[in-house]
Amino acid sequence: MQLTNVPHLSSAARAVFEADGIEELYPPQVAAVEAGITEGKNLVASVPTASGKTLIATLAMISAIERGGMALYIVPLRALASEKRAEFAAFEEAGIEVGVSTGNYESTDEWLASRDLIVATSEKVDSLIRNGASWIGDITCVVADEVHLVDDAHRGPTLEVTLAKLMRISPAIQLVALSATVGNAPEIAEWLDAALVDSDWRPIELRRGVHYGNALHFDDGSTKELPVDATEDQTAAIVRDTLADGGSTLVFVNSRRNAEAAATRLAGVVGPDLDEATRDELADIADGLRSASDTETSSDLAAAVANGVAFHHAGLVNENRTAIEDAFRSRAIKVVCATPTLAAGVNTPSRRVIVRDWRRYDGSVGGMKPLSTLEVHQMCGRAGRPGLDPYGEAVLLAGSHDELDELFDRYVHADPEPVRSKLAVEPALRTHVLSTIADGFATTDDELLEFLDGTLYAAQAADQSQLAAVARRVTEYLIANDFLSRDGERLRATGLGHAVSQLYIDPMSAAEIIDGLRTAESDPTAFGLYHLVARTPDLYELYLRSGDYERYVDICYEREDELLGSMPSEFEDHAFEDWLAAVKTAHLLEQWADEVDEGQITDRFGIGPGDIRGKVETTEWLLEAAERLTMELELPGAPAIARARKRVSDGVREELLDLVAVENVGRKRARRLYDAGITSRTKLREADPAAVLRALEGRRRTTESILENVGHPDPSVDDVRTATPSTADDGEDQASLGDFS
Ligand code: ADP
Repeated sequence: MQLTNVPHLSSAARAVFEADGIEELYPPQVAAVEAGITEGKNLVASVPTASGKTLIATLAMISAIERGGMALYIVPLRALASEKRAEFAAFEEAGIEVGVSTGNYESTDEWLASRDLIVATSEKVDSLIRNGASWIGDITCVVADEVHLVDDAHRGPTLEVTLAKLMRISPAIQLVALSATVGNAPEIAEWLDAALVDSDWRPIELRRGVHYGNALHFDDGSTKELPVDATEDQTAAIVRDTLADGGSTLVFVNSRRNAEAAATRLAGVVGPDLDEATRDELADIADGLRSASDTETSSDLAAAVANGVAFHHAGLVNENRTAIEDAFRSRAIKVVCATPTLAAGVNTPSRRVIVRDWRRYDGSVGGMKPLSTLEVHQMCGRAGRPGLDPYGEAVLLAGSHDELDELFDRYVHADPEPVRSKLAVEPALRTHVLSTIADGFATTDDELLEFLDGTLYAAQAADQSQLAAVARRVTEYLIANDFLSRDGERLRATGLGHAVSQLYIDPMSAAEIIDGLRTAESDPTAFGLYHLVARTPDLYELYLRSGDYERYVDICYEREDELLGSMPSEFEDHAFEDWLAAVKTAHLLEQWADEVDEGQITDRFGIGPGDIRGKVETTEWLLEAAERLTMELELPGAPAIARARKRVSDGVREELLDLVAVENVGRKRARRLYDAGITSRTKLREADPAAVLRALEGRRRTTESILENVGHPDPSVDDVRTATPSTADDGEDQASLGDFS
């Protein structure tokens, strides 16, 4: 089918597609159009990676907008929101306004009401509904990307409930769900009352196979010689072979450490073969990576990238992750070693994919567990760049003949597993039952069950008794904690319950925080507050490693007075270990707020810079919620909480809080100014520019911009001479000072 034959598509929108090189639709896209995607019909598209799912969604959204409606695109990860936004921005040519709703959970983003197409995560959409965003009711078309993630225990329930809420708010809403090829696509289609496009079609041939001995064995029975030298391993041999053929390789491994180690090793394979021009380009990219964060992780990354290889995992700061993805797409980087969780959503096609590790450590089984077929298929789907590669190849690695057979059975010849709802467990239902009642979707137990009937869980479960039982337990928990009240049949959210729902925190987190604040005798300390929020289910605690136990038991008793709430006894194994893990997490947060170097913290705690950032952001959010809760309950402590929040947010001691409020002044610069006697914004505004320049180590451009930002009457340092050689053009930016950029 030609694009011109797609019904209900304006010529302006068509022009945008054509500018992107699209003329003829791919077969699954044709099926979607025939199912009425441009006429407002619901659709589930279960199609392999990189087979044009986004276009299906775009056709639906654009035609809905052209009918006068508004579209919402739900992404599974925050990191994907801006990527999708950039993709849809092309339609601004056709008069379509695109907006992204990210960030603060406690807002309604009213400015989005004027947008035609909005990109957001399911958590954000859920919070917008809870906070009563006026424009939610105007949405006429909603797309759920990667809908197979309803199977994810952490994030799946929110997606499920959010879709159920949207269907309730606007029963005529058009639903388009995009999914990887899964085992039970018809069931998902039935849940959403949607037509189904279930297809294995791919725009570029994908060959799946296993490397064993000195050959690749493919799914079609063919083999290809690929010898492994005595001095190298299978991965190195395959990377070398791909490179000789002008292709790139994506290597999936099972942990961050393995990603880093593999990248470092492969740098020795790829580096020697690079030409001058590529080396120069890579050296520039490596510089950028180093300056985005001054940690060992970043310098290891930069060293590997200078040799054409990168690692990619959640421990990297966002700037560096994006830089790597870009450089891999532009073909400067030849090999990326990635952990499975992250690379799943990112658009980084590659000639070859190697699934090096097919087992991963799983805490719940206390050992290694095989990856699911669906996950391995998703990884394999990254192989083959349309228009660039003649074909894609995805290979697993076997060390024995038995393993060769096992891998063929498990992954090459196997179908992906069915997707199952993870809704009927207490942690998931706590927050969703509260919001369902607070938002008025249900006012009695029966209505609650009726609402839950619109979820995938209800569509899948043979009998609803488990869901009903969990819902009842959760309701009682919420009543006991004063988030809900019962009056005869009628369930109502209390003022506190409304606040908790809108703050978007787990009610159990709220209960823990309230309990801790109630027991606080005087002003809580920052450490005590960090420990309190680290105990909540909304903040993942650091893991206690061997040797940590004694260390944190000591800290725990030394600082017992600062800790809020009642400490579990050492005989309560689990509870006490959790308490200690929270001590460790609080210790990290305190070090950050005490101005310890980012690099020292990552070394000391064995984590990546991205982890510090993640913990810091979550802590900020939870402390903001704690502040609101103290007001709601008229408890003391709000100013202390605000100070602890600002300190962790900027990574500074209390005396620097005033200075870091100036734009371009991060933790290190603030400290330098402070140590030079410029201890406040007022002093900075009145300071001798020469003194500021000295404090900032002769960096002229930085000095001028900071003086301008603080409103200094004469910010120029042109005439100032410095004893040390000064740099007119600053190479140093905030991030290289150990701050988050
Ligand atoms: P998915 O979302 O299924 O992983 P995408 O929608 O990102 O895959 O599509 C992969 C690539 O294929 C994109 O670069 C897109 O522009 C291109 N593409 C999609 N549909 C067509 C088409 N009909 N003709 C040509 N290119 C297409």
